[in-house]
Amino acid sequence: MKKAKKEMDPEKMQSLLRNEKAVKGIAGEISRLAGKHGARIMHVCGSHEHTATRFGLRTLLPANVELIAGPGCPVCVCSSADIRDAIEVAKKGAILTTFGDMMRDRTQHGSLEDARATGADVRMVYSPLDAVQMAKDNARREVVFFGVGFETTAAPVASMVSDDLPANFSMLTSFKLTSPAVDALLASGKHHLDGIIAPGHVSTVVGAVDWARFPEKYGVPAVVAGFEPADLLLAILKILQQMKAGKPKVENEYTRLVRFEGNPHAQEAMRNAFDVKPAFWRGIGMIPDSGLFLKERWSDFDAKRKFEIQSSIDSEKDLPKGCHCDEVIVGELYPNECPLFGKTCTPASPYGPCMVSGEGTCYIWHRFGDPRELRKILAGRK
Ligand code: SF4
Repeated sequence: MKKAKKEMDPEKMQSLLRNEKAVKGIAGEISRLAGKHGARIMHVCGSHEHTATRFGLRTLLPANVELIAGPGCPVCVCSSADIRDAIEVAKKGAILTTFGDMMRDRTQHGSLEDARATGADVRMVYSPLDAVQMAKDNARREVVFFGVGFETTAAPVASMVSDDLPANFSMLTSFKLTSPAVDALLASGKHHLDGIIAPGHVSTVVGAVDWARFPEKYGVPAVVAGFEPADLLLAILKILQQMKAGKPKVENEYTRLVRFEGNPHAQEAMRNAFDVKPAFWRGIGMIPDSGLFLKERWSDFDAKRKFEIQSSIDSEKDLPKGCHCDEVIVGELYPNECPLFGKTCTPASPYGPCMVSGEGTCYIWHRFGDPRELRKILAGRK
């Protein structure tokens, strides 16, 4: 009988993936392969930026290999219009529930935190199931879940959409799909990218296959990566290897969690709950096929219908005056190049959306950025 393969203890795995010698060894290979031309590589995940910044990985890269953060923070790209809708629903008397980060995301209409301060019943939840339970416990009140996120958040919400939901429960959704956003950046022709690091947790849902369009359409390598320092550096190394071989393809570095085809059950749940339509990304604009919207058959649970909310987009950039999140979100500006960084705009008092959430690039740089590292990065850009 074939012996079952023994899985490595997660803590041992983590210490290996953070091992300084191993990490520096991979960085040395990157320097060797980078050659004269180098590469401009984008990741699209707040957790990847967290790893890169917290561990100072950029200090290990040669100056001509640039790791930039793309649109990987759902709070940052949630439109003011969606937040305004949530405020309006709360002001109409519903219990409005949402994740903690969304309370402080500020717009020209104020924030959900402001709405709560003026008497609206806005409550923080850790899971959409908490909101469903709240509806069951408050049968005389309408309870609305304001869901904001990418595929990893949308999939569990999709899986609870059924006729069993309480009649006094409904949803406002601002769910977005990550790969169409990267596609839109490349299709615009304004952004040069040599490689894409695909987010590991999103890819557990959509699979590495979702990123195959980049080598196929644009000749740009795509590598799905995990969240330890060695994961991220290995992804960069794999991109450089593909560039050298002249054979762009999609690769999966995060095989310990991601299957090439993704999670078929989660994908089926999303197809059952949502239609894919164009969506507005704050700081970027409309992106085709990038939003998930409740299907007509679930319209009884659509808070916009229930509360007769007429939604409309606020402005092209949808950002406060002087905020450069539109450039930060697409990797054209590093956070500390914004004149407001660390002055008018801090995690304690965020001025723009990229400083609100732990997944926002400005927040991460403010929280973890080592000035010596930042100087080195800037020197590499000149
Ligand atoms: Fe926007 Fe603040 Fe970042 Fe500047 S530092 S881009 S104002 S979030």
